[in-house]
Amino acid sequence: MKGNGNNVKYEKIPQQSLKDPDSVKTTKNLLNSGDQEIPMWINTVEASAMGAEEVSARLRVEVRQGLSWQEANYRRQLIGYNEFSVKDEDPPWKKYLEQFKNPLILLLLASAVVSICMRQFDDAISITVAIVIVVTVAFVQEYRSEKSLEELTKLVPPSCHCLREGTPDTFLARELVPGDVVLLNIGDRVPADLRLFESVDLAIDESSFTGETEPAQKNTAPILRPNGSQSSKINIAFMGTLVRCGSGKGIVVSTGVNSEFGSVFKMMLEEEAPKTPLQKSMDSLGAQLSIYSFGIIGLIMLVGWLQGKQTLEMFTIGVSLAVAAIPEGLPIVVTVTLALGVMRMAKRNSIVKKLPTVETLGCVNVICSDKTGTITRNEMTVTVLVTSDNYLAEVTGAGYNDHGQVILHKCEHPEYARDSVSKVFEVGAVCNNAMINNETLLGQPTEGALLAAAMKHGMYNVQDRYIRLQEYPFSSEQKMMVVKCVPKYDNDKREIFFVKGALEKVLPKCTQFSYNGTVQKLTTKKEQEYMVEAHEIGRKGLRVIALAKGTNLQELVYVGLVGICDPPRQYVRESITTLLHSGVQVKMVTGDAVDTAVAIAQMIGLDTLHSQVLSGEQLDSFTEAELDAAVPHATVFYRVTPKNKLSIVKSLQRTGHIVGMTGDGVNDGVALKKADIGIAMGRNGTDVCKEAADMILVDDDFHTIISAIEEGKSIFYNIRNFVRFQLSTSIAALSLIALATLIGIPNPLNAMQILWINIIMDGPPAQSLGVEPVEKDVIRQKPRNTKEPMITKSLIANVLISAVVIISGTLWVFKKELSSEGITARDTTMTFTCFVFFDMWNALSCRSQTKSVFSIGLFTNKMFLVAVTLSVIGQLLVVYFPPLQSVFQTEALTVWDMIFLTLLTSSVWVISEIKKLCERLLEQRGKGKRTPLEYV
Ligand code: ADP
Ligand code: MG
Repeated sequence: MKGNGNNVKYEKIPQQSLKDPDSVKTTKNLLNSGDQEIPMWINTVEASAMGAEEVSARLRVEVRQGLSWQEANYRRQLIGYNEFSVKDEDPPWKKYLEQFKNPLILLLLASAVVSICMRQFDDAISITVAIVIVVTVAFVQEYRSEKSLEELTKLVPPSCHCLREGTPDTFLARELVPGDVVLLNIGDRVPADLRLFESVDLAIDESSFTGETEPAQKNTAPILRPNGSQSSKINIAFMGTLVRCGSGKGIVVSTGVNSEFGSVFKMMLEEEAPKTPLQKSMDSLGAQLSIYSFGIIGLIMLVGWLQGKQTLEMFTIGVSLAVAAIPEGLPIVVTVTLALGVMRMAKRNSIVKKLPTVETLGCVNVICSDKTGTITRNEMTVTVLVTSDNYLAEVTGAGYNDHGQVILHKCEHPEYARDSVSKVFEVGAVCNNAMINNETLLGQPTEGALLAAAMKHGMYNVQDRYIRLQEYPFSSEQKMMVVKCVPKYDNDKREIFFVKGALEKVLPKCTQFSYNGTVQKLTTKKEQEYMVEAHEIGRKGLRVIALAKGTNLQELVYVGLVGICDPPRQYVRESITTLLHSGVQVKMVTGDAVDTAVAIAQMIGLDTLHSQVLSGEQLDSFTEAELDAAVPHATVFYRVTPKNKLSIVKSLQRTGHIVGMTGDGVNDGVALKKADIGIAMGRNGTDVCKEAADMILVDDDFHTIISAIEEGKSIFYNIRNFVRFQLSTSIAALSLIALATLIGIPNPLNAMQILWINIIMDGPPAQSLGVEPVEKDVIRQKPRNTKEPMITKSLIANVLISAVVIISGTLWVFKKELSSEGITARDTTMTFTCFVFFDMWNALSCRSQTKSVFSIGLFTNKMFLVAVTLSVIGQLLVVYFPPLQSVFQTEALTVWDMIFLTLLTSSVWVISEIKKLCERLLEQRGKGKRTPLEYV
């Protein structure tokens, strides 16, 4: 609560209704005819110098009503959506041509030109067609990658609270037009440039603009001599900044590109998104491979030249090999896989804001989760109530409505009891910012529950009996909310404070309590009695709220407490068990009291008996060393403040954990930033939180965290799988040509064939390995060690084994064919088809590092089936379709040839299956007593 909480500023604004259709018409005419003189929007320099009523008059809006929907629609048609059009893009054909800028492609083109000069037109055409195919595939891949990255930016559309036709509404910020009246609240992101006309303690974080970390205090007075600087415009709220404190209202003066943020946005567009660690390591892997490939290719060309092979042919083969062996598609496939994974996660209700998050997800080994709303449903219902004069009442019914009853227990003076209950509900309803409209709640569930309970007691719109003068809002630090009011209808205009909050915060401010209509002095004994009541209610897992009122904030009259039920969500218990089994610790963090926290923890299967339960106060008192000793072993943290959350994250990180931390409040932002994965609540979270987080849970559901981890892990495995596939193909192709050259036999593959292999390697089959569906048991695997590299020893072993099989098989086939007179088209066709089929089988075994294809299911990856089928059809076309035959210099093979090759090449898959089987058996032996079932 701030000291200057008193300076509520309202500016008088003339009434001017736009509701009747006539006035809309005049507005229309005016704007149509006078577009030049009266622009549809005002820049912030001008707006800050104008009075608020001037702004509202210029923009033709009555601030108590807001625009009409019709008028807003009309304005939007004129001025467009409140969004930024993405930078002018090059047309696709330009991007297509850019693909030819690749030096290797240019070299290949050069060899085509040389072929023409040497009158080898067949070769020239072949090379050109092959180049076109390669370039097209690369272009399509890159285009797709760009498109999917673009989709990502649309995942978190900002929303806003806006007044239209007199009622507040929440919709997408892109719908805003100049003249709209926007309501700002603590935690909101400012949706457009606003000229403020009402501000209560409003402070806005403009660090994204000014770099200033202290929030800027705002008020509504016009500025006499405005200059261009952001910080001087204290009556303007800028688009994209964050409300740190207080609340306010403003008129939208400029939207989209016209806003101040528009110019910043344009600058941001020019910056490229930073690469993820995985992308970086792929880049360096690519660079390394390039160096090796160039070395080997140089050697091949040198030896070939020494052997007196045709220079041009050697050159073309060398360059094609370079195109093929260099996994230029690798970074793109990684990006596409990550981006597609992110889209898939979005479908499962978790929005990942940055690609690197996906990689970290599989490494998380501690999750600190909020209780309220994440573990529990955040559907609050008052179920019990104890008045200060010890009347006990039970409240029935659920939902935000008046269906239910308040049933009094063991009651000697029902008339007093009814009165006392009314007092409790009165405080609950007046000290309240929620609204219930047709059974839907606007505002916090805790407050909605209090309103609903009052309604069940026949008390509607209680807050209308008072005029609110001031509010000290609820915060997770204070755990208490206070409003100061005067009665509307009484003659006695004395100020009354209505207070609700945690019992240990409210009780110290009470000196009296209400007893059967009288007020009595609060004794320590009585206080203890109330504490016991609160403990009893808390032990049932209910959230306890104490209520008090009075004319002096330090000498309040205690009126009673309510117990609010918020049951755990479905499946949370199962999710937690799964996580614990996979070696991820789960910690529950809550602002509620210890009894409530422990009761809920037990309901969801967290062990509170053998591990510590720590309070925020304890955390505050601990030294760093004490924290590190205690925090990793605690499962429940109660009465926690945002500051405590930060120290929990830091301590866990010091002790070597990778932490996922959830948050919803304004002040959770720091902890979320610090955590390895900051998780914001999509439904009940503030914009501040969403801004700081790496991931957003759309439905606030704990279970969603698990699906995100699951996706994160499997994306990593998928990437590893296609890296294995690409590496083995690339090594096999290089070694094959190198060996043939060294042994001194003709080249088993020609340049065009090598390019075709490149397409299969970089193209659809590799890509489809990236979308392998999540394996059932991926979530049960241990979190990955962050330091573990992507290319592990076992991966290299797998790559080498496949490569050796492919090379020996292909060379054998080639040798067999060669034995007749000289090299013929049939020979290379056989080797070529052999290599491609090997590759297909190899792709099949790359679908999993450890599992048999049969256990993951032959048909589970539809994309893979499609990609392989297309590749095989392509291969058949290349072999049997005359025009392509001449491009790739192939010849039709017999059915027997095909059957022979299929059987032979399956060996690479059979060998890999055998290896996997042995590894599984070994692992089971190693783990000893466990039953094999546990590994299924
Ligand atoms: P959590 O971290 O579980 O969401 P909160 O910080 O929201 O917990 O709430 C902590 C405590 O503050 C609650 O136990 C309750 O006593 C009190 N409290 C919660 N919401 C309100 C509110 N709107 N007004 C007053 N007190 C509240
Ligand atoms: Mg809360």
